[in-house]
Amino acid sequence: MPLGNVHGKHIVTIEGINQDELNPIQQAMVEESATQCGFCTPGFVMSLAGFCLSKNAATIQNAHAAIDGNICRCTGYKSIERAAARVAQLLESRTNEVPTQFVADRGILPGYFSTIEERLLGLSAHLNGELRNDFPLAERVGGGTDVYVQKHDALKESSILFLAEKASLKGIRQEGNTCDIGAASTVTDLMESPILQRYFPDFKAYTKLISSTPIRNLATIGGNLINASPIGDFTIVFLALDADITLNDGTQSRSLPLRDLYLGYKTLDRQPEEILEKITFDLPSPSSRFNFEKVSKRTHLDIASVNSAIQLLVDGNLITSVKLSAGGVAPIPRRLTNTEAFLTGKPLTEAVILEATQVAQTDIAPISDARGTEAYKRLLLSQLIKAHFIKLFPELKVESLLAQ
Ligand SMILES: Cc1cc2nc3c(=O)[nH]c(=O)nc-3n(C[C@H](O)[C@H](O)[C@H](O)COP(=O)(O)OP(=O)(O)OC[C@H]3O[C@@H](n4cnc5c(N)ncnc54)[C@H](O)[C@@H]3O)c2cc1C
Repeated sequence: MPLGNVHGKHIVTIEGINQDELNPIQQAMVEESATQCGFCTPGFVMSLAGFCLSKNAATIQNAHAAIDGNICRCTGYKSIERAAARVAQLLESRTNEVPTQFVADRGILPGYFSTIEERLLGLSAHLNGELRNDFPLAERVGGGTDVYVQKHDALKESSILFLAEKASLKGIRQEGNTCDIGAASTVTDLMESPILQRYFPDFKAYTKLISSTPIRNLATIGGNLINASPIGDFTIVFLALDADITLNDGTQSRSLPLRDLYLGYKTLDRQPEEILEKITFDLPSPSSRFNFEKVSKRTHLDIASVNSAIQLLVDGNLITSVKLSAGGVAPIPRRLTNTEAFLTGKPLTEAVILEATQVAQTDIAPISDARGTEAYKRLLLSQLIKAHFIKLFPELKVESLLAQ
């Protein structure tokens, strides 16, 4: 985490959860022989401490999810999973108690945790959430999960504008049928948003395919879009939602469709001084259907070889509107406009879906690289388009499409 992003936060290190004896989380790790070489152990203990402090239900699944970004290289996962399950059991009797109070009262974590919420409020009173854009050429940093990987050394010398805690860039709001997402909202904010959960019931399932809990807690949606990666997962989602973005150069704002932002590989219709403020899109109507698919070398903790999203409106058996996006198949994340035009007005049949996968080949220009050959990526896109229809229209019973 970039230092600038800890402003207003209370940091707890592994030493900060020590008690006279091992605390119950550490004890669970010992009892399940989950410590192995010990290098990764403090990270696992801290992630499980984070789980104990979160409001997530105390289930074994949630305990496992809390450590999904921690890596052990001594083949200790099964024992670590068992330790995590024990930690979930420690919380079983929690009902409506505030988690910080519960862990302090039960001696799971030191007593000072009972005052943490109050102390955090005290800190936030001194935070300046206003966005100032006085340094037009300062490097912008959201969660820093990409830029600090790409430009680690250069950033040591740069002036930096930290955006992650700017109140004016936070929040997910609904007004009528429109949704606004502040660019500094994190992936976790999106996963926990009641608005997104209501309109996209599978949203959590999509996001579980995207990075890991620690990265999702930091990574902002603005960073994903401005990063301009040809396989940025949220970029693909918001392209299919036909989102608009708002950029601000410090004096004025302008809006443009997200699909017009990407001009060429990592080249944007954006001036260096412009900050992405928010993303705006129309919430889907009850008759609209949306799906996101991603293929990577591993199911979890991996970037996409190819990803795709679709938003469809169907009237009876007729497709009346299609927004289809794909990543990993061109220098930019893009909408597949030929395929969209082909599908619009067509009946929903197996033959039409198969022909659409052919038309899609005219929309793309993949290259062979570490994530697959050109031919493989073309095949993947075809399969993902079929997967959209299989998932969205189970009544069509077109699962056999995947073999064609
Ligand atoms: C272990 C790991 C796993 C990952 N897995 C995935 C994955 O599965 N899918 C995926 O899509 N990505 C993945 N990423 C990439 C990255 O986490 C995401 O792209 C993330 O959304 C970037 O957001 P950020 O806030 O960290 O961006 P930053 O690193 O802070 O910034 C990225 C770029 O955007 C600019 N920027 C950020 N915010 C703004 C703003 N508001 N206005 C103007 N410019 C801005 C920065 O200047 C920089 O150029 C992964 C990264 C890591 C380290």
